[in-house]
Amino acid sequence: MSASSRFDPLEALAATRHEFGEHGGVNMSVETSTTFTVMHGETMPEIFRGVLGPDHGGCYLYGRHFNPTVSVLGRQLAAIEGTEAGYCTASGLGAISATLMQLCDSGDRIVSGNTIYGGTYALLHDYLPAKAGVHTEFVDEGDLAAVETALQAGAKVLYLETMANPTLEVARIPELAELAHRYDAKLVVDNTFCPLIMSPARLGADVVVHSLTKFINGSSDVIAGAICADTEFIGQLMDLHTGSLMLLGPTMDPRAAFQISLRLPHLGLRMREHGRRAMYFAERLAERGLNVTYPGLENHASRELLDRMGNPGYGYGGVFCLDLESADTAQQFMDILQNDERFGFIAVSLGYFDTLLSLSAGSTSSEMGDEALAEAGISPGLVRISIGYTGSLEQRWREFENALRSVGLG
Ligand SMILES: *Cc1c(COP(=O)(O)O)cnc(C)c1O
Repeated sequence: MSASSRFDPLEALAATRHEFGEHGGVNMSVETSTTFTVMHGETMPEIFRGVLGPDHGGCYLYGRHFNPTVSVLGRQLAAIEGTEAGYCTASGLGAISATLMQLCDSGDRIVSGNTIYGGTYALLHDYLPAKAGVHTEFVDEGDLAAVETALQAGAKVLYLETMANPTLEVARIPELAELAHRYDAKLVVDNTFCPLIMSPARLGADVVVHSLTKFINGSSDVIAGAICADTEFIGQLMDLHTGSLMLLGPTMDPRAAFQISLRLPHLGLRMREHGRRAMYFAERLAERGLNVTYPGLENHASRELLDRMGNPGYGYGGVFCLDLESADTAQQFMDILQNDERFGFIAVSLGYFDTLLSLSAGSTSSEMGDEALAEAGISPGLVRISIGYTGSLEQRWREFENALRSVGLG
């Protein structure tokens, strides 16, 4: 699909059917039942064979299979991502592992970008080869020739993150989708860093996965994930005999689905404000000659890609990185920001309403090991900042300047 065809994820969300509550409530009801009444017992075998389902002549079956409340959130996320269908999982890694286990059999290969979330890296690098005989070759996804060479050796999946963590480089999804499809691989994209900003499925991705734990939920109080794809793939995941969601069981609790669905309507407001503040900080830090990485900066290699592929009006994301070179300086800087300035928290994760600060090399990317870190350009003093929107922007910048002065950089 061409990048110029207009798609607004929030317009798509608003156009989904409104789910009234059981008594006409403006919010949907939460269906907590783990099992569902089959009105005519003789239909049970057909329900089990998957011939009759909730959408075609049957009914809901069991809570690890489709649940009505979780289904609503799945439909809403599918709308945002521009896919036919979507379903939710207990965590982002639940979504990623179920997707990869569904697409790969023992002996199959995956080609993956080399700057991915540490947990996903461990899954691909260590867990899947040992447990499933599925091996991954890691490549620089910015190097299309290297990706092509890796795909030529045969692969079931090309795996990428829209915005690599913590380098914040944006993947050239249309070109990478074309390559994947030329070699009969499915393109799976983790869009956790860029909800609304990017719509990978509209650019050619076959499956979009999310950690809802981050921006989409936005309050750091729920662990959750989602898979957006065509109806056929979502159906395969839930197949009673061969489906990864059904058999591995990373089931989302319907209460979590309800909670997250109430936060989708203001996701756009939040992403814009995260992005506005990240841009303000990044521009000021760049003016001072500090080593700041933010894909919204004019000189960042990915700015043009985001302008070309992104959905206009949602900004460039809420994460920027500041490289202080030494881990000691970076630790001291974060301590001051947290304990003296009350600027934010030293904590992993992102997309929270308050600011979260972490050293990538020593935390969320530590699974990668020193060599892989160096190869991916992740320095020991790289502070990843997921900027929040509490307090005023002027107040937050003052606090940040104070901390910079305290470590001799102001
Ligand atoms: C956090 C994260 C995950 C894992 O999600 P969980 O909800 O913690 O399981 C996967 N991918 C990215 C990019 C993440 O940031």
